[in-house]
Amino acid sequence: MAIGPHKSHLRDALQQRAALLPLAHFLACIRSSVRYTVHAFTLAKLPMLPEIAPEELAAAVYDLATQLLAEAGILGPPVDAFQLARALGITVALDGVQAGRARFVRLARGTRTLVPTILLRPDPRAERRHWAVAHEVGEHAVWRLFAALQVDPREATPNAREQAANWLAGHLLVPQAWLAVDGPACDWDLLELKARYRTVSHELIARRMLDFPAPVVVTIFDQRQLTFRAGNRGSRRPPLSSIETRCWQEAHRSDRPAQCAEENRRVRAWPIHEAHWKREILRTDLEESWPD
Ligand SMILES: [Zn+2]
Repeated sequence: MAIGPHKSHLRDALQQRAALLPLAHFLACIRSSVRYTVHAFTLAKLPMLPEIAPEELAAAVYDLATQLLAEAGILGPPVDAFQLARALGITVALDGVQAGRARFVRLARGTRTLVPTILLRPDPRAERRHWAVAHEVGEHAVWRLFAALQVDPREATPNAREQAANWLAGHLLVPQAWLAVDGPACDWDLLELKARYRTVSHELIARRMLDFPAPVVVTIFDQRQLTFRAGNRGSRRPPLSSIETRCWQEAHRSDRPAQCAEENRRVRAWPIHEAHWKREILRTDLEESWPD
């Protein structure tokens, strides 16, 4: 898919909030403002709202996530979703008996006030806890997204709200403007990015790489099975190339990051190995689009 035009209101919003960004980010933003264009890949389809253009949706998600972080006074990575919720006036409480990871409720306190509350199921993985809380913050704020898009929230299906909350969570935990600076600064090294955005999973960072203009393909293997593969150009999934297979196998076998290159593509594979689970994440940089 073509990259959406850079929205002037995004630039305005950036300028207004630039003072809130850490200095290094701010300076880098000025130098590379073109990277603030939100690539609409992962926001490409909102089937319940077919009249909304992907670029418009992407800009609205970017805007709202930026506003929420500014309102919470969060200036740089890593984003602590619990701190974010607290700063936005939301209580987070543990609830060991509920079925889902988390849910958003309004609990009565005393006789009058209803306190916005996230009920969170305990989970040993910090990244999952942060994701669950960020998702519920997204649910809490999703009406603002629909308002910006001039969509009547009553017309949005629960599925659309759920999807929108996921997008917001991704943009809250790995903000577009920050990753636009930090990604190129470390040549999109997944492990370096994970050290910086340590409240989120490697997978979320890798998927967010697809929201930038540089043509890339992201691939995930779990236990030697391909479980995710997507590129940010075109709609079809490119077939796995031999160089990617080689690079993946090397990382799988050696338990070390691997890199392979050929004429018009560079492949990197990072092993995310645990005692009982072997995952590898690949980023393939392409010179243009992938060849037909
Ligand atoms: Zn939800």
